[in-house]
Amino acid sequence: MSKSDPIVVVGAGPVGLCLALALAQQDVSVVLVESMTDENFLDQVPRAGSNHPTTLEFFDRIGLYDRMEPRGLIAPKFHYWDRQDNALIAEFDHALLKDDTKFPFVLQCERIKIIEEALKLAKAHPLIDVRMATEFLGFTQNADAVLVQVKNAAGDAETIRGCYLVSAEGARSIARKDLNLEFEGFTYPERTINIEVAYDFRKHGYTERNYISDPVEYSNLFHWKGPPDRWRIHFPTNIDDDENELKRPEALQKRLQQFLGIDHEFEICGCNLYTVHQRVAAKFRVGRVVLAGDSAHVNSPIGGMGLNSGVHDAFNLADKLARILHGSADDAELDRYERQRRHVAVQHTQAGTIRNKRLLEERDPAVRKRNHDELRRQAEDPALARKFLLRTALFDSLREAEQIL
Ligand SMILES: Cc1cc2nc3c(=O)[nH]c(=O)nc-3n(C[C@H](O)[C@H](O)[C@H](O)COP(=O)(O)OP(=O)(O)OC[C@H]3O[C@@H](n4cnc5c(N)ncnc54)[C@H](O)[C@@H]3O)c2cc1C
Repeated sequence: MSKSDPIVVVGAGPVGLCLALALAQQDVSVVLVESMTDENFLDQVPRAGSNHPTTLEFFDRIGLYDRMEPRGLIAPKFHYWDRQDNALIAEFDHALLKDDTKFPFVLQCERIKIIEEALKLAKAHPLIDVRMATEFLGFTQNADAVLVQVKNAAGDAETIRGCYLVSAEGARSIARKDLNLEFEGFTYPERTINIEVAYDFRKHGYTERNYISDPVEYSNLFHWKGPPDRWRIHFPTNIDDDENELKRPEALQKRLQQFLGIDHEFEICGCNLYTVHQRVAAKFRVGRVVLAGDSAHVNSPIGGMGLNSGVHDAFNLADKLARILHGSADDAELDRYERQRRHVAVQHTQAGTIRNKRLLEERDPAVRKRNHDELRRQAEDPALARKFLLRTALFDSLREAEQIL
């Protein structure tokens, strides 16, 4: 391996950008390949945006947090609601984590704002060569290097030589497919509709982040900074419901009116429909090629763990790659990355989001009551509530991973 070969990172999503910045901060050169252009980079559908305290600590390490805070909303609390009774079940307050973290809150700041700010930092860093409008096509690897084939911004075929290739390409990762890695798991037999609406739900008692249980139509409701301020509300839909019918303005109005039980003409800013998968790649590392973020694992968004756990992959991996390149660790460190982060993907992210969904959609009245009583019990006792928050804010997953050798 030539010491001068850069690490090639594919994908300027939150994971690829954080990885590139964390590597560059440790004096490692990076080529960051992104298929989108400067012109269309910000035209992406709304996705993640609840950033947990653990992730904010990582963003702070690369100077990203200070750029995000003014563009986001600080959300110390979150709620569980019972839609059947229109009653608040439990309120959890991250202030209980004030001795555990510099950031005892969630920052509601959308993925698009995160990548916009992170891309500016990456472009300004002398060790990061950002290649926009460059499409990753495939790779070959040998004992010394990985040869990465791209179609560059001029439309020409080009080969970039790197010491490692990190696929942060998202769920449709070409590298994962080329490596013939199983994407183990399942896809839920329903689709979720996300409605964006300029309406202040706090009038009805809601806080910035709400999980609403209902045996018929569970939902999640989140507040996002504008202008204008918007709220995103997600509802499950049947897999064979007609998409155009679901998105019809009158149908969206009716869904919101039924949800709040009021007769109001809402200002709807947008809507999209998505399918939810629970999948983890069989391996995260094959030779010089490593998977991170959605390329390695995808999960339900309930609990806001996809982007967060992907960013945790990025920092874990950056520290290991930097040590390998600086000669203080050997290549087997990457197997430890796989053991640690695959464990988190299966035992924390996947298990936690499956549990969250079950909790919200539970139909059996006795089980619902037991679940809600348990949530109440945990929220009312500060020691139990802190324990609960250490899990949901992903501290437990990081601490557990650290124990894995
Ligand atoms: C509706 C919704 C809500 C969500 N809410 C949350 C939440 O609140 N909290 C949370 O933690 N997670 C959430 N998630 C999940 C989150 O969006 C993802 O986990 C996160 O974006 C993954 O980041 P990534 O960088 O791995 O991949 P991506 O964000 O998918 O980025 C991949 C990048 O790679 C580029 N790329 C792809 N293929 C190529 C190629 N061949 N060549 C070059 N470039 C390529 C893409 O253009 C893109 O820029 C949500 C997801 C959805 C769908």
